[in-house]
Amino acid sequence: MEIEERSEILNTTGMFLLDGKKVRNDVVTDLKKESEKFYQAYSRRPELAIIIVGSDGASLTYVKSKGKLADEVGIKHVDHFLPEDTSEDELLNLIESLNEDDDVDGILVQLPLPAGISEEYVLEKISAEKDVDGFSPLSMGRLLAGYHDNVPCTPKGIMRMLEYYEIPIKGQDVVIIGRSNIVGRPLSILMSEKGADGTVTLCHSKTRDIKKYTASADIVVVAVGSPGFLTSDMVKNGCTIIDVGITRVKDESKKKGYKVVGDVDMESFRDRDVKLSPVPGGVGVMTVAMLMENTIRAALKRKGERI
Ligand code: NAP
Repeated sequence: MEIEERSEILNTTGMFLLDGKKVRNDVVTDLKKESEKFYQAYSRRPELAIIIVGSDGASLTYVKSKGKLADEVGIKHVDHFLPEDTSEDELLNLIESLNEDDDVDGILVQLPLPAGISEEYVLEKISAEKDVDGFSPLSMGRLLAGYHDNVPCTPKGIMRMLEYYEIPIKGQDVVIIGRSNIVGRPLSILMSEKGADGTVTLCHSKTRDIKKYTASADIVVVAVGSPGFLTSDMVKNGCTIIDVGITRVKDESKKKGYKVVGDVDMESFRDRDVKLSPVPGGVGVMTVAMLMENTIRAALKRKGERI
């Protein structure tokens, strides 16, 4: 398939929208086959335990979309909805029992957790083989050492999207804005490791003059959580931009009363010659697909299969 056929051209001046849904559909087709193969071999479905504490609206939406895709792919998911006042011990005990449950292949704790529960302790409690989000210190360490078993889903989705659209990383100047453990930091490892071979600059809130770095970058990934953060004067023509940000902003014209926007000031990019992964429809859908991939991989690995 030609790259042009995989892209959506936003306007006549040449801005390409990288379509996360297309990449996701491709991935999902493969995952359905893999999960069916697993079922034929082991007479059970790969199983994902999803834990959510409290009733944060955005978190509930994420959990729902994860369950929906699991159903589509053929992964059994068991959702644990815990009340806001759940104690840290209760949560840790639940994780312990899921660690020991032989039928459970993956455990996901939806973040953020309510105040009073230590994210650090909780993530550390998830057994390494079931850590499908890849956020535990052990998984992070393994990633640093070059193991790709539990790669955090958003960075993994970004890598897959670049691969799909044949956007090279090797020898390219990559600027990542945002250094969180779930996006920027693991992505900087993936993009700079041997084989990917990008030259990565990791920016954050203390970086002086971000434009100095983005202006010459071949790839810019923006994961800040600040609508309109990246404007077109900050990048060069031909640049690839991956918008990771997700912010709900009030919009009375929408049924839900809000819309979801990213970190890129889309209007300012209209006439620019760039490739852009937008919000919504970009990295977000990839993230959920990668979670399903990690779950199937974890299930296979727990059966002793080499992957
Ligand atoms: P986070 O933990 O809050 O990290 C934000 C990062 O942005 C930090 O490294 C922070 O710097 C940096 N930052 C803040 N203000 C800045 C500024 N003015 N200039 C430069 N850097 C600045 O957020 P996160 O969890 O990584 O998420 C980032 C965004 O991505 C959010 O909107 C989130 O909802 C979204 N997200 C989307 C997906 C998806 O699937 N699409 C997945 C995860 C997250 P410091 O480190 O110095 O504080």
